[in-house]
Formats: sequence, C-alpha cells, structure tokens
Amino acid sequence: MATHNLLLLPGDGIGPEIMTEVKKVISWFNARGGDTFESDEGLVGGAAYDAHGQAISEEDMAKAMASDAVIFGAVGGPKWDDVAYEHRPEAGLLRLRKDMELFANLRPAICYPALADASSLKKDIIEGLDILIVRELTGGVYFGEPKEITDLGNGQKRGVDTQVYDTYEIERIAKVAFELARTRNNKVTSMEKRNVMKSGVLWNEVVTDTHNNGYEDVQLEHMLADAGGMQLVRWPKQFDVIVTDNLFGDMLSDVAAMLTGSLGMLPSASLGAPDAKTGRRKAMYEPVHGSAPDISGTGAANPIAMIASFGMALRYSFELVEAADMLDKAIANTLDKGLRTKDIAAAGEATISTAEMGDAIVAELDALSA
Ligand code: NAD
Repeated sequence: MATHNLLLLPGDGIGPEIMTEVKKVISWFNARGGDTFESDEGLVGGAAYDAHGQAISEEDMAKAMASDAVIFGAVGGPKWDDVAYEHRPEAGLLRLRKDMELFANLRPAICYPALADASSLKKDIIEGLDILIVRELTGGVYFGEPKEITDLGNGQKRGVDTQVYDTYEIERIAKVAFELARTRNNKVTSMEKRNVMKSGVLWNEVVTDTHNNGYEDVQLEHMLADAGGMQLVRWPKQFDVIVTDNLFGDMLSDVAAMLTGSLGMLPSASLGAPDAKTGRRKAMYEPVHGSAPDISGTGAANPIAMIASFGMALRYSFELVEAADMLDKAIANTLDKGLRTKDIAAAGEATISTAEMGDAIVAELDALSA
C-alpha cells in the first residue's frame, strides 16, 4: 500500500471553504485502508501575499515541486486588485504551472444524469456525455514571440501574437491524449486549422506520426477546430478524447464545459512530463472556477468541482481507478437524491450548504462501501 503526498493550497475566497470538504473526502479514504494520503498545506494567491508579500513563497513552491500532487482551490478577489502586477494572486497559479512545467490541461465534460435537464442542449444530446479535452497549456499563441503592439507612426498601431509550436511540444501532448484514450473509449480527435495555419499543418503531421509510432491501437481522427466547435454542440457524444492547442483548447473546453451546467461542477487536471526515474508526472488538480468573492463566506459554494478534482488526482496521478470511480458515483448518487447547492438548483428548489454537500458525498461513500 502506498502513501501519496499531497500539497493542499486552498487560496482565497471560497477556496478554503471547498478545500475543507475535500479534506473530509481524503480522511474518508485514509480511514478506509488501502493507499493513504499525507497532506501538507500552504498559502497561495492573496493569502500568500498577505503573509509573505508574494503570491506563493519559495518554501511552498519547493513543497509543490516535491509533492505527488498539488490540490489547488482558487485565488483572487477585490482585496488584492491594487497589488503590483507581479504579486497579484494569479501570479501564484502561473508560477506553479510554469515551474512544474504542466503542459497538459485535462478538462472532462461529464453530464450527471440528474442535471441533464439543466443543460442548454436537449436532454438526449447531453445525457450520459463523458468526454475529455486535452489542451496544450504552455505553448502556442499565448506565449509565442514576438508578442507586442508597435506604433506604425501613421496613426495606426499593430498588435502581434505569434502562434508557434515545435515538434516535441505536439508529440508530448499527443502521447498524453493517446495514453488517456486507452483508459477510456480508445478514441482521439485532434483539432487544428491546417487549412489556414502552418502550425496546424505541423500539428496534424506530428499527431499522425506519434500515432503511427506506438499508438496504432487507438482510433485517431482529425477535425478542423471550427468544425469541432460545431460538432461539440451538435452531437458531443461522438467524442472521447479531444486533443488541441492552447488557443483552441481554451475556447473548446469552455464550450464543452457549459454543455454540462454550472462552473461549480467542473474539475481540471494539469500534468507535466513523466519523471525519468519514477515515471510519475508532476500534477496539479483544481476546479475550473475562481474564488467567487460574491458568495464567499455564505456557505453557498458548490464543493463538487473541487472534490471531483481530487477524484481526477486519484485517477491520473495515483491510478486508483476503483477509488476514483467510487467518488464519481458518490457525487452522482448525491445529485440523484435531489441534493443541490444554490448554483445547480432549479428555481424554487430547496438548497443545501457547502458543508452539507460535502457531508452528503461522504455519506454516499459510506453507503457505497457498506
Ligand atoms: P468565478 O469563477 O470566481 O465566479 C463566477 C461566478 O460563478 C460567480 O457568480 C460565482 O459565485 C459563481 N461560482 C464560481 N464557483 C462557484 C462554486 N463552486 N459554487 C457556486 N458558484 C460558483 O469568476 P470571477 O467572478 O470572474 O472571478 C472571481 C475571482 O476569481 C477573480 O479575482 C478572478 O481573477 C479569480 N479567478 C481565479 C481562478 C483560479 O484561481 N483558477 C479562475 C478564475 C477566476
């Protein structure tokens, strides 16, 4: 039985509130026996700025680098609006992503049956949906140079961003997608714009070459990213794993996310390269949403995105598939019983608090293991 080291970084706003609920789930798995988790805790975002004058201290950064997985809440809030740019709360998150070299961002879009009616799409299109978007996170147009606004001197300015990808960046994200597909329905759809972008031509070539060199067992299809966006809302169940670049992934994952409802339901994982000795990837798990200052302190936050992010850690960092499936089932059962935080309740429906939702999920874990 292994012991896994977690670094919990609750952050700001509702971050600590939803992290409290994850701790209940971690304690439940520790009490159950089998693999166990040792949790250390640190500060990030505004909380770290208040304590150390920077968005994450060197000590906590070192703990993150040494951990088996970082479980991250959320950062930011109006209190830190006037903090110097390099110390703003988000700088802590960006530093973690950069120093841990988290190049693969995984965002599942899962439709819980109990929430199928809440989607803006028809129930039969969305019910049972389970897709995974794998987005390249550290390259492409958000980082390429030159990146500038120049004055052309004739009353005009020119804004330039550069979309740039090297072979190794495409190859490593394609491998992540193929490997994940093998644990799911064994299909990868690669999306780019090879019809108008050179980086798209290279993306397509490298994904195809990677597929032909050790991943032939996985079904691969290519789709133009604009057609992919259309297909995502037309018939999303045709997809299993979608792999795409940073820019298209940013947009397509938001589209896919909203197929399934509230921000409070959406987990994510960010993975780095496998360690040469241990094979383990650096990893950070976090809800997609922010620190929700508008509801912080009211007990209204939905902890499901945070708890499901820990579920992704079970699945992708620790290969505890049975535990991850069980946690997902506990969440689904809780929703099936009609329990709702405010963000996922229909008008007039009764709601429960953050802590009550966490307790209900733990009670379902008890019921499932009985
Ligand atoms: P947000 O995601 O915090 O909130 C958007 C809306 O969704 C709000 O109405 C909020 O109440 C609601 N919401 C979000 N999470 C919820 C949950 N778990 N349960 C119930 N309702 C939930 O985005 P925002 O309001 O644009 O940003 C607020 C702060 O969070 C800003 O400082 C922003 O910079 C920061 N932010 C941080 C992250 C991060 O830490 N990864 C991501 C996005 C925004």
